[in-house]
Amino acid sequence: MKVPFLDLAAAAAPIQPEIEAALLRAARSGHFIGGPELEHFEADFAAYLGAPHCLGVANGLDALALGLRAMGLGPGDEAIVPSNTYIATWLAVSQCGARPVPVEPREDTYNLDPARIEEAVTPRTRAILPVHLYGQPADMDAINEIAARHGLHVLQDAAQAHGAGYKGRKVGASGSCTWSFYPSKNLGALGDGGALTTDDAGIAHAVGVLRNYGSQVKYENEVKGVNSRLDPIQAAVLSVKLRSLDRATARRREIAARYSAAFAKAGLDHPHVPDWADPVWHLYVMRHPERDAFQARLAEAGIGTVIHYPIPPHRQKAYADAGLAEGSLPLAETLAREVVSLPMCPAQTDAQTDHVIDRVIALF
Ligand SMILES: *Cc1c(COP(=O)(O)O)cnc(C)c1O
Repeated sequence: MKVPFLDLAAAAAPIQPEIEAALLRAARSGHFIGGPELEHFEADFAAYLGAPHCLGVANGLDALALGLRAMGLGPGDEAIVPSNTYIATWLAVSQCGARPVPVEPREDTYNLDPARIEEAVTPRTRAILPVHLYGQPADMDAINEIAARHGLHVLQDAAQAHGAGYKGRKVGASGSCTWSFYPSKNLGALGDGGALTTDDAGIAHAVGVLRNYGSQVKYENEVKGVNSRLDPIQAAVLSVKLRSLDRATARRREIAARYSAAFAKAGLDHPHVPDWADPVWHLYVMRHPERDAFQARLAEAGIGTVIHYPIPPHRQKAYADAGLAEGSLPLAETLAREVVSLPMCPAQTDAQTDHVIDRVIALF
């Protein structure tokens, strides 16, 4: 039996006719930059989350970088980032000319540890960037409380958390969040896409100007902005996919519950979910002390896995200038050696999930 890590074509199959109809509609609309498809998606996604403002941009990295610029981050500033995240979170800070300052995660949730944030705050700190990693919400009340105490902005990287719940509300219902619609994300386009949602009208206005060359009135430029647009063809597809997001999420939750029940019974380590969190299982991540051999054996059994992420940002060549030697962020480094993401796809059958469970238990 084969179990792909993620089969995007199979996941989209139930709504493929609607996706193709949306593509055709967008192609015939005569609006190829901005226009009604984009405005409808922005309104639909904002309503889905309960967010007052949504601005489509070209990708998740741009959403982060523009959000930070809208918050006024620039050269000489510092922003607190998780040591365990996709490198885009760090790159957005660097793009503004600011310095990412890493904080280690909690070992049970792999998300930013609020208890370790304050020791990283300096007079230059301007923002905290929590990441809702793997689709599991970070502990926002604790993080917001620290931010308020020190007068810091908070920009949530929700690229993996479309639809996730935090204390009964959706991630994105409050504060400022950035989203990626990269095809493999829980809400994915047929190419690149991103958005920023916020309950702060000032940030929404600033991002709206920055994404459009720094202009509100055509050919009048008030700031040095960029060109970062969510393509209306992608927006049309995303509006279709948004309507089935909850169904896909429900299936991810069933698969995760099946994994976790079996691994708990077998006494294996498996993801911990705080009682206030309702994750959307972008990834189902386990740890194995002999991870590379474990992954190879799973591959021999026809099971696709991916490592998220094999090298932590501080050990990338790109951040050699940060001077963070091996051993400086031991938890992020251990996770990079031990984590493995199991197959997680809304189209995955129970038989496929059981095959993964069977092999995983046999290989521990
Ligand atoms: C995917 C991702 C991004 C970047 O999104 P792009 O649309 O690929 O630019 C940022 N942060 C996290 C945590 C991600 O998973």
